[in-house]
Amino acid sequence: MSSDHRDLGRDLDIFTTHPLAGAGLPLWLPAGAAIRDELQRLAKELAHADGCVDVYSPVLGKRALYERSGHLTKFGQDMFPPLELGDDDVVMLRPANCPHHALIYASSQHSYRELPIRLNELGSMFRAERSGVLSGLSRVRQISLDDTHVFCRPDQVTTEAALGLHAAIRAQEILGLPVDYVRLSLRDDGDGWLGSCEEWGAAEDALRSAALQALDRHPLELVEAAGEAAFYGPKLDLQVRDGRGHDETIATVQLDFNQPERFDLTYVAADNTPQRVVMIHRGTVGSMERVTAALLEHYEGRLPFWLAPTQIAVLPVEAGQDAVAREFVDRARARGLRTRIDHAGALGARIRRARMRRDCLIAVIGAAEVAGGTAQVTDIAGGERTEVDRDALLDLLTRAHQSRDRLISWA
Ligand SMILES: [Zn+2]
Repeated sequence: MSSDHRDLGRDLDIFTTHPLAGAGLPLWLPAGAAIRDELQRLAKELAHADGCVDVYSPVLGKRALYERSGHLTKFGQDMFPPLELGDDDVVMLRPANCPHHALIYASSQHSYRELPIRLNELGSMFRAERSGVLSGLSRVRQISLDDTHVFCRPDQVTTEAALGLHAAIRAQEILGLPVDYVRLSLRDDGDGWLGSCEEWGAAEDALRSAALQALDRHPLELVEAAGEAAFYGPKLDLQVRDGRGHDETIATVQLDFNQPERFDLTYVAADNTPQRVVMIHRGTVGSMERVTAALLEHYEGRLPFWLAPTQIAVLPVEAGQDAVAREFVDRARARGLRTRIDHAGALGARIRRARMRRDCLIAVIGAAEVAGGTAQVTDIAGGERTEVDRDALLDLLTRAHQSRDRLISWA
């Protein structure tokens, strides 16, 4: 089997495309949806652990919103054309979640004592990419991003950036995906950078200390890159080298001088004066599409137990064991485990099929196992067959799923 995610996606029924659905707009099949649900659960857990709260906002916004945010000027060529609804009511598919989150922050007054406020949403955003550059899940027109916007005081930037960077590194560790280094992206001597020299200096220092704080806990190299900042502020990027001399950014913690100005976002300081709030964009797990593609390729379809679309395939040897096998499957499902039963054809063929489908574990139940309350379990990675008590197996797998263990130990 090829290790290209587009081939794996097809062979393992992860996603499909259809000319009528359109280029760069993949359809997630049940196996793909199972992976994505796990990624969303992880993204939420990490966000909530850092004090983020969930919000929901629409995928459409008024054109005036993106004029205000500046997206129309800077990224207008990547946005889908406006939908004219009459009476000056013109809406657009959003290119980012930030403007809506800025409006949510602005919907009430905030005291310096309430900050930071961290708004989290797994939201879809849209890019009008040309059909020629679209590819599988890695280049798409609708991107589903786990996205947090932190609104804080200037003195909180270092702590918040360190928290964001730590969460992003932790997410990649849990996923088992490589991170090669952390990049501190700074401005250069050119122009086009928004904000004053003092603002940039302070922000760059804050992010540098944040990086050093986070890297105290993770042994990664910090590389400073002049000219790689966004025009509206410096950022910290998690980088991977793809081996073809091309580096890719997989998550970022980004400071923004622009949106708070454009939306006039403030907080009430101790002396009762309104002060400009600082906005930080943070991504942790990344876009659902890109991460799923990366996981499929990294593991060649053999995903860790907690992510596998089918965690355990149950194979009764003969019809006489069907009822017990079915009862086991029902109990596993009741515990939130993803399982399937397969009784079509010879046992050897069914085992081969489960391997081809990259089912994480295979449990064979024959007459002896029915009598003994056990199953013969094979791990797709190790291949060694072990006889395990069925009740103990359910407990073990429930724990492995919840704790996202990459290896399951039978001992
Ligand atoms: Zn943002």
